Amino acid sequence: MTPLERRIRDRIAAQGPLPVSEYMAMALGDPDYGYYATRDPFGAAGDFITAPEISQVFGELIGLWCAVAWEQVGAPVRAVLVELGPGRGTLMSDALRAGGISPDFAAAIELHLVETSPKLREIQRAALGGRDVTWHDRFDDVPPGPLFLIANEFFDALPIDQFIRTDTGWRRRCVAADPDTDSFRFVVADNPVHDLMESFQNTAIGAIRETSPSSMALAGAIGRRLVEYGGAALIIDYGPSASAAGDSLQAVSRQKYHDVLAIPGDADITAHVDFQELARAASAAGAISHGPIPQAALLSRLGIGPRTENLLKSASAEQAATLRASTKRLIDPAAMGTLFKALSLTGANTPAPAGFEEET
Ligand code: SAH
Repeated sequence: MTPLERRIRDRIAAQGPLPVSEYMAMALGDPDYGYYATRDPFGAAGDFITAPEISQVFGELIGLWCAVAWEQVGAPVRAVLVELGPGRGTLMSDALRAGGISPDFAAAIELHLVETSPKLREIQRAALGGRDVTWHDRFDDVPPGPLFLIANEFFDALPIDQFIRTDTGWRRRCVAADPDTDSFRFVVADNPVHDLMESFQNTAIGAIRETSPSSMALAGAIGRRLVEYGGAALIIDYGPSASAAGDSLQAVSRQKYHDVLAIPGDADITAHVDFQELARAASAAGAISHGPIPQAALLSRLGIGPRTENLLKSASAEQAATLRASTKRLIDPAAMGTLFKALSLTGANTPAPAGFEEET
């Protein structure tokens, strides 16, 4: 048994089966043995590859998006540029290089990264060279000011809860320790759950619905900042555009699917992002939501085609093949193009952000 399995079993012995969100939070975020605390999961040799690790063009286009969004709110002389869960810092490094095309934008921004993993903070520090960066454990600790916020594959790592509709009402799905083996298993709690979301009403008996209270709280907090100080947020992740029933919890290790309950801390655990609910939480705070739109639509409208062509001009034959394949992977419907979506949030009275003009 691993030390984290021992810790989870002790918690279950003390308080009973754990809600899925608590299990997920421990597996990913335990400060000693959690998945993100202990490793650098990215890249071809790691557990999974994210868009900024596939192509420099991804971060570059997002950097330009931020510079345009900053101009759209009147080019404030001081602005807060935030990335949630910056991974290896690749996206931000590419974004800053591209955003440097506007020296006034580059001079105005103060860089704040929200990252809990000390190991990844070190990797981010190295990726960002000598830049002045402030790290925070939580978004709420970021100082006030006009806000430009990026979150790529961040919300999918925030804990979710699962509920099953039974013929006698809703029950919470929990993780219990199997008494006969070392393993964990899913159980359905006895107590009925009330006050779930209105959108769950038409769910079939036996189906699972998911909520992510921490995602909703964060979307609300971002919305409130945008309303108070102005700015724009760009959230990119995978999930359906409209809330749907189903168990979306998944674990990935070394680029292969893995049992969610096997060796917690050893695999990345994620769930689909519910964009409809994120938009609703931000709108309830007074912010305006744009999209979600497919990642392919966003990147095409921001100019991934011409930018790729431009890079091809100075590429070797080998580099050219890689570049073409990377761009294809980001926008191909069979790869990341449509499963991944982009949602933007802005303050009130702000023009639609670049790429979202046709969607508002
Ligand atoms: N945006 C990056 C990395 C995505 S992985 C990319 O696209 O490559 C998720 C990132 O969020 C990691 O950096 C992880 O350490 C961080 N993270 C996960 N849960 C977090 C939390 N609750 N608070 C802050 N950071 C978190």
